[in-house]
Amino acid sequence: MAGKLTVVGFGPGGKEDMTLRAVHAIEDADIVTGYTAYVDLLKEFFPDKTYKATGMMKEVDRCRSAIEDAASGKKVAIVSSGDSGIYGMTGLVYELAEEMKAGIEIESVPGVTAASSSASVLGAPLMHDTALISLSDLMTSIEKIMDRVDAAGRADFVIALYNPKSRNRTEYLGQAADILLKYRSPETPVGIVRDAGRKDQSKTLTTLGKLKDADVDMFCTVVIGNSQTYVRDGLMITPRGYRGKRF
Ligand code: SAH
Repeated sequence: MAGKLTVVGFGPGGKEDMTLRAVHAIEDADIVTGYTAYVDLLKEFFPDKTYKATGMMKEVDRCRSAIEDAASGKKVAIVSSGDSGIYGMTGLVYELAEEMKAGIEIESVPGVTAASSSASVLGAPLMHDTALISLSDLMTSIEKIMDRVDAAGRADFVIALYNPKSRNRTEYLGQAADILLKYRSPETPVGIVRDAGRKDQSKTLTTLGKLKDADVDMFCTVVIGNSQTYVRDGLMITPRGYRGKRF
């Protein structure tokens, strides 16, 4: 009999930020499949599980193997950090399961995405319309990415940048900042959170004008305020618009 594949977003990293549903899905699984660094994180919280870890860039192999294990009757949890449906594995799992005619049951368990966990560290920067943009050009052309940055800038969205910088992509963050400076003041608040919800969590407040020179890597989420966002007592706040309104 075919088993079940649960696609689990386990949040930013700490067990307290996992949903109960995510905890139960991992506890119930016969096999937990994921990227090596994530598996190492989860081993701390669930030491007795059977894990299958694969390296970065092995996403297709990892999903195929999880689908095959589920098709053979196992209960499998395939894990991503944050929300699995946001730059995670969920879409690929559905696509491959159809292609492989796997006939398995698939469940998607949402998680706390990096934009949310980072926002909670910074204050309340996502209180108004927000665009999530990944600066990784592995799957999307850099022209399209920058076009989206431009559109979000023009429309005054708060912007949460995922994958803001890696060793091989050091220029894109500065390019994105230059595009946004066409629409926003150099004083626009920017918050950078590294390792949100993990033991080495840190945050930096800077401005759009200085973003190019900020210390950013792939463990960071960069939150760029809209035209209304301000900083007070070290907190980045985007007004929702309550003040001055009668309720
Ligand atoms: N599915 C994940 C995103 C994966 S893309 C989610 O929903 O959160 C990987 C990017 O997410 C990283 O480059 C970084 O920008 C962001 N990210 C993931 N975990 C993070 C954390 N704990 N703190 C800050 N940013 C994080």
